Amino acid sequence: MFLPEQVYFEPGSLEYPLGKDLLEKFKALNIPIFYLSSHNKINSKTENPSEYYSHAKKSIVVGVKKSMKLEPCKPSADYQFSLVTGCPGSCEYCYLQTNQSLKPFTRIYVNIEEILENVQKYIDINSPNITSFEIGSTCDPISVEHFTGSVRKTIDFFGKQKYGRLRLVTKFSAIDSLLDALHNKNTKIRFSLNSKYVIQNFEHNTDSLEERISASGKIYSAGYPLGFIIAPIMYYDGWKEQYIELLESLKSKIINPDDANLSFELIQYRFTTKAKKVIIERFPNTKLDMDEANRIKKWGPYGVYKYVYSKETAFEIKNFFTENINRYFPNANIEYFT
Ligand code: SF4
Repeated sequence: MFLPEQVYFEPGSLEYPLGKDLLEKFKALNIPIFYLSSHNKINSKTENPSEYYSHAKKSIVVGVKKSMKLEPCKPSADYQFSLVTGCPGSCEYCYLQTNQSLKPFTRIYVNIEEILENVQKYIDINSPNITSFEIGSTCDPISVEHFTGSVRKTIDFFGKQKYGRLRLVTKFSAIDSLLDALHNKNTKIRFSLNSKYVIQNFEHNTDSLEERISASGKIYSAGYPLGFIIAPIMYYDGWKEQYIELLESLKSKIINPDDANLSFELIQYRFTTKAKKVIIERFPNTKLDMDEANRIKKWGPYGVYKYVYSKETAFEIKNFFTENINRYFPNANIEYFT
């Protein structure tokens, strides 16, 4: 489990019970602690982008969530909110490389009660319709759960909601503390999976495929709605064999795979010009295939072009996964391929 090399406390964070609790935990672990004089002011000791990135990835910032306006989160959920932003993992292709490129720190929010009160307002306004929320859009929420317990609290909160549903996605496997939560099937947990080649080459500091699959088996046995995001799907020599291997090992951990009500979300690898620039700065020897000549441009929802596989390749990937997911998990639902 992730252990930071240093922790920064922002002003106001120690006024909340979770802030005080985290301070005690980090002190007991002898982790160096720094108190920031103003929000968001961490002085960088280096100008080198990859050194700065590496320092940030080994740090935690503890702060207070100020903005309570929730952003939409299609196609996954109606809204997203954050218990944490950033992630100690270092996936080379991660979208956080660009959308948090200047501050790649993992930031924990301590005002969890205020965050959940705000969520309650969104649920109440929309009731009796169901309102769904994603907490894995700007972070990996499980990556620091062993310090915070915030996901567990949030699952308990949603367990009591008639009209609220929660979704999260993770590449980490420390989910034992969630197994006896009163989830009431109102929280769906998805594991982000990939082939061995992709995990070994691009998903640094995340849990292994075996650990994620084993954790998904526990979540399934605890009665949670369970899903998988296979992303980013990459097209390389041997991709079909490795993705079949992935589905086979998943099947071996799921009880009654023929009846299992699982969901799959499928996302092909894509990149933007901005992401490519940041990735090359941080991972100069990256093996990511970011050759625009082999791609087509697609207009993205955030107002920038992204480079995706050609129509023929995307079609081949989609068909391959549809056929094989139906073969290994006949009762599963493929929510989307994009
Ligand atoms: S685990 Fe998820 S959030 Fe963390 S670096 Fe990897 S892709 Fe990004």
